[in-house]
Amino acid sequence: MPSARSTSSQAFTRARRILVGGVNSPVRAFAAVKGRPPFITRGKGAHLTDQDGRRYLDYVMSWGPLIHGHAPAGLTRALTAAAAKGTSFGAPTILETTLAEHVCALIPSIEKLRFVNSGTEATMSAIRVARAATKRDKILKFKGCYHGHTDSLLVDAGSGALTLGIPSSPGVPKGVASDTLVANYNDLDSVKHLFRTHRQQIAAVIVEPIAGNMGVVLPASGFLEGLRELCNQNDSLLIFDEVISGFRVSKGGAQSLLDVHPDLTCLGKIIGGGLPVGAYGGAAEFMSLVAPMGEVYQAGTLSGNPLAMTAGLWSLKRLSNVLYRRLSRMSGRLTTGLTKAAKDSGVDVQVNSAGSLLTPFFTAKPVNDYHSAVGANTKKYAAFFHAMLGQGIYPPPSQFEAWFLSGAHTDQDVEHTIKASQKAMRAAKRA
Ligand SMILES: *Cc1c(COP(=O)(O)O)cnc(C)c1O
Repeated sequence: MPSARSTSSQAFTRARRILVGGVNSPVRAFAAVKGRPPFITRGKGAHLTDQDGRRYLDYVMSWGPLIHGHAPAGLTRALTAAAAKGTSFGAPTILETTLAEHVCALIPSIEKLRFVNSGTEATMSAIRVARAATKRDKILKFKGCYHGHTDSLLVDAGSGALTLGIPSSPGVPKGVASDTLVANYNDLDSVKHLFRTHRQQIAAVIVEPIAGNMGVVLPASGFLEGLRELCNQNDSLLIFDEVISGFRVSKGGAQSLLDVHPDLTCLGKIIGGGLPVGAYGGAAEFMSLVAPMGEVYQAGTLSGNPLAMTAGLWSLKRLSNVLYRRLSRMSGRLTTGLTKAAKDSGVDVQVNSAGSLLTPFFTAKPVNDYHSAVGANTKKYAAFFHAMLGQGIYPPPSQFEAWFLSGAHTDQDVEHTIKASQKAMRAAKRA
């Protein structure tokens, strides 16, 4: 943690006078782990540097987008060239079509798509399409899944909402919230029950096919297949929120890895290569309902702007099986290393991982849903976190978030992290 006299600390004090909580997205404020966040001046590869000149090995990677690391030289050059030609026209460019063609080639369930500026916009718009397509109002989501901060999805939500203990936000109208039904992740019976009690009323089921926002939670075998079947039986749409898992767990996202295919897919994070981008898409039948083809209205002043499209294209073009194999190998090694470090210190930890995502949960019990996730000991996580930060390693400042590896991380980085975790686990043991 930066000392009270450090410039990061001064920066936080100054920020808190004028920015809500000193930040523009809640988890950044370190509320869950206490302490004050380092203020970052630059990122390069797998590392961050803060205002005090301290260097950190980064496992947040801007919460997922930076699969190729911070500021890859080629991307910086591409962005500079794009910026020189103009940052936004409010008129079509061929870059949008090219990126869309790339996305559709990687994720075949997407026949047509629309670019937006964030994951939140993507899920919000996908839900609107599903409601219009089915002429129904209710949607079904899962406890602990996070789909951005749109009203109808801020019910029993994960990520920062879960971290701060406000999974169902004040300010969401009762009427809106009552159209959101909540089931338990990995529990098909809870879904069947809701389909029975709200017959012909559910427009869509929205799910993170690999959950990343209550920490990493994997879908149990048959869970996603069961959702697909229930949606088919009830004429509801299945929406995969692949804002994290898309291009992360494989080139084609969780849907290609697990071979279950949704009607609509929401994308974000990696698709923008570190710039603000989201997208939603799916079967042409549904996407054709969106204006100007159809009457479902959705628009964006900066949507598809050339800088964002350039960063997305650069990033997607560099996804390769070699990269995914490397990421899996490093995350496998980190999973084993963290598990062993915990065991050696006598701390109960379960590490869940999927490709380059992982979460060490400080609990003795397997974590497979919201209930088991919140059983984790957040005090121990906080102690672990600060002991890691003190050794120049930056894990997510919350128990309920995923760690992200990137192509810029190396085997040596991972070994260094495991070594540091031995000391950090001892700190957790004492907490
Ligand atoms: C991050 C995230 C979102 C929201 O994306 P923003 O770009 O932050 O609005 C939605 N769904 C999932 C699964 C996410 O991880």
